[in-house]
Amino acid sequence: MPLIDSYQRPIEYLRLSVTDRCDLRCQYCLPKGFKDFQEPAEWLTFEEIERIIRAFSELGTHRVRITGGEPLVRHGLPELISRLAALPMLDDLSLSTNATRLEKLAQPLADAGISRINVSLDTLRAERYKAITGGKIEKTLAGLMAAKVAGLQPVKINMVVMKDTNEDEVEDMVEFCLAHDFTLRFIETMPMGEPGLIAQQQFVDLQVIKKRLAQRYSLIPSTMPGGGPARYMRVAGTDLRIGFITPMSQHFCETCNRVRLSVDGTLHLCLGQNDEYPLRGLLRSGISDNQLKAHIQDAISQKPERHHFNENPQQVVRFMSMTGG
Ligand code: SAM
Repeated sequence: MPLIDSYQRPIEYLRLSVTDRCDLRCQYCLPKGFKDFQEPAEWLTFEEIERIIRAFSELGTHRVRITGGEPLVRHGLPELISRLAALPMLDDLSLSTNATRLEKLAQPLADAGISRINVSLDTLRAERYKAITGGKIEKTLAGLMAAKVAGLQPVKINMVVMKDTNEDEVEDMVEFCLAHDFTLRFIETMPMGEPGLIAQQQFVDLQVIKKRLAQRYSLIPSTMPGGGPARYMRVAGTDLRIGFITPMSQHFCETCNRVRLSVDGTLHLCLGQNDEYPLRGLLRSGISDNQLKAHIQDAISQKPERHHFNENPQQVVRFMSMTGG
């Protein structure tokens, strides 16, 4: 039986942030010059992470996505993955990454037990990539190709669509994903902290993008395993699936099935609300596994009904890489 919140939603999915640090500085995600990251003493250790994930999995949360920050900057990540992959009640372990370090790590991650990955890629143009993220696109592209060689499947490309920034590239990205057999997902910008709030000025309604693509491609409603909020269309005559993630234009809170655990051991109960439940202090005070499970159940009972990004965009001051996107 999965954990059920007070709105009768089963919480079957956990996003686990293994670091709040990142080697990129995406303009909508991390404030310029930000340095106030969590210190190592505040990070959950691999043992603590394993203990919490075991408790969740025994309570019915069988799917975990590893994220950050950039998860690949956490030293020893394949070791953590092996430990989580060995948990008998966990059946799905996936990863979100910017792929800058994937060229070396794709095979060790696959060997450790990662089955599928999501890669952030907002543009195919080197200069734009630099402007949006501060990094070099070559590394990310090399990482993507290494993921293919390592047999990670499916590889989903996440593109945050922004006005006057990359909106003109959605068709190019469709062609790129067709050519490489990747799945493509478009994402609307969310007002998460100061950078997200600024990014709202570049907001693009994905319903408009869908209509635009429908003029060029024949799109058929489709599905995709993964349990996430994307609504999928398949390009007729191909295997390409395109997902639309629309937290702003068409929110999906009534089917929200997830919570997030940040690197400092705080459970964030909703991406768009400030409700949280700190677990690290409890763990370090020596609680038993049964007490830990009771706290998790208590936390889930406090999960808010929905976000208020549209009504109150300034409400969430925490930005995405702090929470675990
Ligand atoms: N570093 C990893 C990556 O690049 O996928 C994982 C963490 S990153 C915070 C996860 C996702 O959050 C990325 O796809 C990123 O584009 C998205 N994201 C960050 N801030 C956002 C915002 N304000 N609105 C929408 N998406 C955002």
